[in-house]
This record gives sequence, structure tokens and C-alpha cells, in this order.
Amino acid sequence: MSRIAYVNGRYRPHRGALVHVEDRGYQFADGVYEVCEVRGGRIVDERRHLARLTRSLAELRIELPMPLSALSIVLHETVRRNRVRDGIVYLQVTRGVARRDHAFPAPGTAPSVVVTARAHDNDRAEKMAADGIAVITLADNRWARPDIKSVSLLPNILAKQAAREAGAREAWFVDARGFITEGSSSNAWIVTADDEVMTRPVDNSILNGISRAVVLDAIAARGLRLTERPFTAAEAKAAREAFVTAASQIVQPVVRIDGKPVGDGRPGAFAMALRREFHRHAEFT
Ligand code: PLP
Repeated sequence: MSRIAYVNGRYRPHRGALVHVEDRGYQFADGVYEVCEVRGGRIVDERRHLARLTRSLAELRIELPMPLSALSIVLHETVRRNRVRDGIVYLQVTRGVARRDHAFPAPGTAPSVVVTARAHDNDRAEKMAADGIAVITLADNRWARPDIKSVSLLPNILAKQAAREAGAREAWFVDARGFITEGSSSNAWIVTADDEVMTRPVDNSILNGISRAVVLDAIAARGLRLTERPFTAAEAKAAREAFVTAASQIVQPVVRIDGKPVGDGRPGAFAMALRREFHRHAEFT
């Protein structure tokens, strides 16, 4: 089946889905995005993803390209046209097409909107969770606003590639004070030796993950002890468990950090329980 992409008002065959060379997303990475999980053909936590999109756009003073109700229709229609049961839907909004100039284009320049969807392999995702992943740590060299879900992802890309080259699946950024901020495309968590779940509080240094919020609800429902405070790489390496959260992989156990096994080197019980219970705490549309 051929894939379909939504590009600026039209549904097009994916292979011919193009934006203009002067699109500011292409020229300057001047845009934002969202990735929602699709499960059973429904979108997971759409409302919260669209709220975060609205915030990212406002922070960058990019206009909302259409009412959220219309964006929602485009998301669902893209999922439907691609017949995605389980996978992701991707939404990108840029400041639009204009003659190349760093300053904002003239008021009224229409933002560009692209939506794509693709299926993922559930068995492969479950196998990865059952095995757990390795992460590496490296210096956080991103700009000061990772709370904005910008398409400007060079440090994240380089970090992810460094992880792959080290035989790991994710890279955890470390701030100047030695605390983990987050993963290159996920939020970072540990469970301490005395069963306390820990994750960095939300501020400008991390993305306010939607899956993070869902997991906070799952933790509360289970009655687990939670502390939102920054933790160091040394604390993570001494932890009983570690895991990451992101819409594309929900809860993913971490079994090695910089080559050192976490706990007994196998996916942790808390992480696996939170993964199983995740969708009970998510919204479906
Ligand atoms: N942090 C970063 C840098 C990300 O790119 C992502 C997701 O892609 C996350 C955290 C997790 O956010 P969410 O749970 O909303 O997918």
C-alpha cells in the first residue's frame, strides 16, 4: 500500500510529498513538531500533544495554522489514509515559505503544515522492551530552550548517532553540573535502591514529555514513591532500574549506562509494570 502525506492542504503520495526550497523549516529549522502514538487506529493523548504544539508555536511566535479541531481532523485522516493501526503520526508546522532572510517573514505568511503516519512492528517493540536498551551519557550541548519541541535537532541527532556507534539505543544528555537532563528523544528516569522513582522536574532544560505525564499518573495510581529532582550519571549507574519514556516507545527499560549494567542488567520490574499499565492512563481519540 502506498503511503500518503498531508502537505499544506493536500493529501499526496508520500514519495512526491514536497515542500518548497524556501520553506523556513528547510532553510532555518524554523518550526516545531509533535509525534503521537497510534494504537488500534486511535491517537494516544492527542489533546495534550496539541496543547504542547500550541505552546511551542506561541513560544516561537508562529501562528497556529488552523484551528485545533481542523488539525485533529487532518491527523485522523492521515492515520486513516495510511491504514495505520499501531505506529505514529507526525505533525510539523513551520513559519512558512518566504525569501531567505533570518528575520520573520511578512505578517500573514502562511505557516506550512506536514502530517505523515507510519506503522511500527509491535513484536519488534515488545522484544526491544523485553531486552532493554543501552544508553550512553554525553554533554548537553543544546540551546537553552529544549522545552520547545523545535525541529532544530542537530545536537540530538549527533547524540543519537554517537549512541548507535557505541552499540547503544539512546544518549542521555548531562548538564554542566553533572545532572542528566533527558535523552536525545526521550525523558530519563531511575528507580533508586530504596524503590524511589526519580525524574528531572520540568523546566526549560527538558521537553515536558506527554508520556512523562502519563507515567506520573501511572506511578500515582500504583502508589509508588516519586521524587522529581535532577539525578547524576553516577546515581543512575547505582540505580536499581532505569528507563526512558517517549510517545514512540512508551516506557523503555534501560539495562546498561555507559557500558555498566543497571541493577541486575535486566529490565526492571517497575519499568515493565509501568509499560504494561501505560495505556490505562492515556487518552484515546
Ligand atoms: N525529550 C525529547 C528531547 C524528545 O525528543 C522526546 C520525544 O520525542 C521526549 C523527551 C518525550 O516526549 P513525549 O513523551 O511527548 O514523546
